[in-house]
Amino acid sequence: EVLSLTRDDEQNLFILGTNNGDHYSRSIVICAGIGAFEPKKLEVDGIERFEGGRGVHYFAKRTEDFRDRDVLIVGGGDSAVDWATTLLPIARSVTLVHRSKFRAHEHQVQNLLDSSARVHFPDWAVKAVHGDERLEAVTIHHLKEGHEVRVDCNELIVAIGFVADLGPLKAWGFEIQRNTIVVDPITMATNIPGIFAAGDIVTYPAKFKLIATGAAEAVTAVNHAVIYIDPKARLDPGHSTNIMEKRERQAANV
Ligand SMILES: Cc1cc2nc3c(=O)[nH]c(=O)nc-3n(C[C@H](O)[C@H](O)[C@H](O)COP(=O)(O)OP(=O)(O)OC[C@H]3O[C@@H](n4cnc5c(N)ncnc54)[C@H](O)[C@@H]3O)c2cc1C
Repeated sequence: EVLSLTRDDEQNLFILGTNNGDHYSRSIVICAGIGAFEPKKLEVDGIERFEGGRGVHYFAKRTEDFRDRDVLIVGGGDSAVDWATTLLPIARSVTLVHRSKFRAHEHQVQNLLDSSARVHFPDWAVKAVHGDERLEAVTIHHLKEGHEVRVDCNELIVAIGFVADLGPLKAWGFEIQRNTIVVDPITMATNIPGIFAAGDIVTYPAKFKLIATGAAEAVTAVNHAVIYIDPKARLDPGHSTNIMEKRERQAANV
């Protein structure tokens, strides 16, 4: 893990302090995603006493953990909807509670609505959790009309998103906007000369957080980092087809 960044101006080097020693470099490309992230907690009195194997899950891992259980899922994104549809044939019952519009894949949402799952949305949320040693039931309520329903459930999966934290990167002097590093989209350069960034950690107008865009940004960042280190280098080094073509031409003496 990278923990610190310092600069040796005399040697013109960056020093990255990690939990596995220091690394020296003339240029850096940061691809740290959204930094450290952890699931958003559900704000309900006493819910923490059911964490750690007593019914409340922030990371559902194995479908078998939910076999023949009454499961209540909170959330409306892909994780919540995918868990609901996946657990339908396994769990004894599946209830999904969501407070606004679904953000999950439309087709999956329709599958869920057409299924035997009990879906309470929009404007429904968890109000209280009940049980002694283990979770036994959850009270859900309608946020506008106020009526309440008590749902028997042994397992509560909370899938309401993640809280991201850039951690040590925040102190390195980057221009930060909404927990992301501002870059020049043409070069992927940050405001610190010699440091480039790519992927979910960057922002620029019309940025998409997708694998394909992140990979393309990384190519741009690396090529510009090379130019930063060696301004005489070619920005576009070509690709293997060009190299093979050149070799074939040389071999054929064309
Ligand atoms: C639920 C979900 C579904 C998605 N589905 C799709 C999809 O279908 N298609 C699609 O294109 N995109 C999808 N995405 C988006 C896609 O996952 C991201 O755009 C992509 O993973 C970003 O890649 P990245 O390399 O920038 O960051 P990441 O993949 O997050 O990688 C960053 C890495 O940096 C590490 N790191 C962070 N800080 C440090 C540090 N200080 N030191 C060392 N290492 C560090 C992290 O541990 C992590 O391994 C989805 C995202 C989510 C959350």
